[in-house]
Amino acid sequence: MSPLWCARAQLGSFELTVATDGTYLLDGGAMFGVVPKTMWQRRAQPDEQNRILLGLNTVIVRTGSQTVVIETGIGNKQSAKLREIHQNQELLPKSLAAAGIRPEEVDIVLNSHLHFDHCGWNTTLHPDGSVTPTFPNARYFAHRGEVEHGHLQLDRDRVSYLSSNYDPLIESGQMTLLTTEGIRETPEIVPGVSVELFPGHTRQLMAIHIESEGQHACYISDLIPTSAHLDPTWVMGYDLDPLETITQRKRFYQLAIPESWLVFFTHDHQVPMARIGVNEKGKPVVVSTV
Ligand SMILES: [Zn+2]
Repeated sequence: MSPLWCARAQLGSFELTVATDGTYLLDGGAMFGVVPKTMWQRRAQPDEQNRILLGLNTVIVRTGSQTVVIETGIGNKQSAKLREIHQNQELLPKSLAAAGIRPEEVDIVLNSHLHFDHCGWNTTLHPDGSVTPTFPNARYFAHRGEVEHGHLQLDRDRVSYLSSNYDPLIESGQMTLLTTEGIRETPEIVPGVSVELFPGHTRQLMAIHIESEGQHACYISDLIPTSAHLDPTWVMGYDLDPLETITQRKRFYQLAIPESWLVFFTHDHQVPMARIGVNEKGKPVVVSTV
């Protein structure tokens, strides 16, 4: 069982909290694509089944007038078989409670994309088999292209999309589907919180920008899942378009490094947030974790 930690940071007048759905295990080879194991295992120690430990980080933004939740972990709707494979702990409700965040107070829920490990607690499965919204008063946002892709149930990635994480919310009208297309189109969800496409992992992966009083933070999601994935070429095997991931990572660094953005890593169980710089070889590295 992972510790029930949460981290907090101030960004201008916004309060940012990192809560966790716990940890889970994924194949190390899949997480690092074509990078040789001899290289990645120095940064992520695999177990005897070649799995590495990953985090499931949710960021809560309190703007002063609104409470925004970014990502909702794996949730409690997985089959027993998948829970056995992932060894996940379904901690997000406890982690939110520990951080003093009530589900009823949440106004907005944002999903960067709709893979099972990013929107699981959008809804909660109850012992009687019913599924209800975890955040009853929230408006949920996801990209329409993600929903359409999930519904295709393609051989390549059907296991990544669990429709009970979003279909009930779409049917009830509680989830708004965004249609933003080009990059640099950044619709504002609430003042100071906006989204922008950074494709590669999926075609419509959205980063979430958080801006207050001249300071900037960004939840870059699976474009850069952990601090071990900062090298533009260390791309996940899961990515649908690895060449686009490399291009988009470089675009991200050109924005984030000069302005010293606070960057959130969705799956890093040790470094949930950091500021990025470049080392003497010109490679992006963590320069601070506050
Ligand atoms: Zn993903």
